[in-house]
Amino acid sequence: MSASKASKTPQAPQARPGDMRPLAEVPGERPPKPRPAPVPDPEAAQYWAAMGEGRLLVQGCTRCGNRQLYPRQHCLTCRGPVEWVEASGRGTVYSYTVIRQNHQRPFRDWIPYVVALVDLEEGPRIMTNVVGCDPEDVYVGMTVEATRFDVLSDEAGIALFEPVPGFEHRG
Ligand SMILES: [Zn+2]
Repeated sequence: MSASKASKTPQAPQARPGDMRPLAEVPGERPPKPRPAPVPDPEAAQYWAAMGEGRLLVQGCTRCGNRQLYPRQHCLTCRGPVEWVEASGRGTVYSYTVIRQNHQRPFRDWIPYVVALVDLEEGPRIMTNVVGCDPEDVYVGMTVEATRFDVLSDEAGIALFEPVPGFEHRG
């Protein structure tokens, strides 16, 4: 966990056991590698496709009104039929962690980065990245919004969240 401060120190990298990063590698030397794309199952195909078009969807039960993600064939509460509802994209950080070690591309190019569980205004909780701010500024209860949609493939995109403008720093 000492990686965060050390990574910002401007000195020559030292080879360490377990450090997979080639010493000669500099940013931009190789083309950026895209985030792995999911192969959507039929229930979730529309969910992933919508994010590829910059829209975040949740499922709404036409019988009891329950909103849910991950996509299912039926309502998890009453097993009623579900329809797609466009989400506002706003939510609150329920929990998060700062990833400081990941040897796989493209993730290792992003460290440190934030993986968060965000409670959407509509109710469902999703796992995402909080971007566009210092990882140290993220906190539980922070208001965030899906502002960035990365296209992963012809059939899938992913929603990334940023703090809403004017978010308050802790302390
Ligand atoms: Zn229901």
